[in-house]
Amino acid sequence: MNDIFAMNRADLQAFLVERGIKKFRADQILHYIYKQNVFSWHEMTLLPQGDRETLAGELPICFPVLADIQKAPDDNTVKLLLEFYDGQTVETVLMKHAYGNSVCLSSQVGCAVNCAFCASAKNGFIRNLTVGEMVLQLLAFRKYVTAGLHSVVLMGTGEPLLNYDNVLSFLRLIHEKDTFYLGYRNMTLSTSGIVPAMERLATEGLPLNLAVSLHAPNDNLRRSIMPVADTYTLKNILTACDRYFDRTGRKVTFEYILIKDLNCTLACADELRHLLGGRNILVNAIPVNDNYDVGLCRPSQKEIRRFTGYLKEHGINITLRREMGGNIQAACGQLRIKRMQKQ
Ligand code: SF4
Repeated sequence: MNDIFAMNRADLQAFLVERGIKKFRADQILHYIYKQNVFSWHEMTLLPQGDRETLAGELPICFPVLADIQKAPDDNTVKLLLEFYDGQTVETVLMKHAYGNSVCLSSQVGCAVNCAFCASAKNGFIRNLTVGEMVLQLLAFRKYVTAGLHSVVLMGTGEPLLNYDNVLSFLRLIHEKDTFYLGYRNMTLSTSGIVPAMERLATEGLPLNLAVSLHAPNDNLRRSIMPVADTYTLKNILTACDRYFDRTGRKVTFEYILIKDLNCTLACADELRHLLGGRNILVNAIPVNDNYDVGLCRPSQKEIRRFTGYLKEHGINITLRREMGGNIQAACGQLRIKRMQKQ
């Protein structure tokens, strides 16, 4: 099915010309959608009535339903639960930073990777999101929150590299001048470490930020919380990261969830510094949300300081991620699960 939200200027021009509509109308339509937040053919009054009727019949605009919205008390985090045409829902989160707004997007409905600490995977993988459905997550903030956009992070539900073609088309589309005109350096793709796709991504010639979910300093420990580690070893992942850096010049970030008594001991810190030492990288440490059902607890402040301090002392570039939205269930997948339980 044709989808207006998956079309760039050239696609839309071709679509219009095939239907006898003037090519220049594409610019007006994209301006309505991306600059004026108009999401109905009938409100695009610069278009002749006949063209609007043709387009309403042949290229219906299907905007997702806002199934839920939560705002943090300080208003710096807003989370939307969006329902698509088939009843499937995804979460998307806006975080307001001093440098601008960042949106954390989902790339799939559910996730097959099944990390132990992640609520998104609890009901398994349902389907990939289309290019248009990823664009709509950004437009939904324009429509419901009226917020500007500085950066995009593919770190919500799903493994983006297992929806490779749609994700790459989406990133290319939002880079275009007639859409969001976002620089690739303002886009971050987070992966659990799907090595062949990381290798492919390095050859695309796009200076995207790559974030890799590491979460453990050795394969055994990693396997205990990330089943994907059975397939891709740390050695293979780091080789792919080194290649990514060589080809794109972009420093890779390693995400490291801190889980009490599991991966944030001093012994783990020491193993991690040997694993990563000598590389031009950044480690982003994130204390886990308590999840007593699966036995994962957040370490104390003292343990967090000891772990990050040790790595800093040994020359590892590490930051503690500023936590936003914990009080609005912004942790990945929780809002969707709450709704599914209600239903
Ligand atoms: S953390 Fe990411 S890759 Fe792992 S299960 Fe959750 S959504 Fe999937």
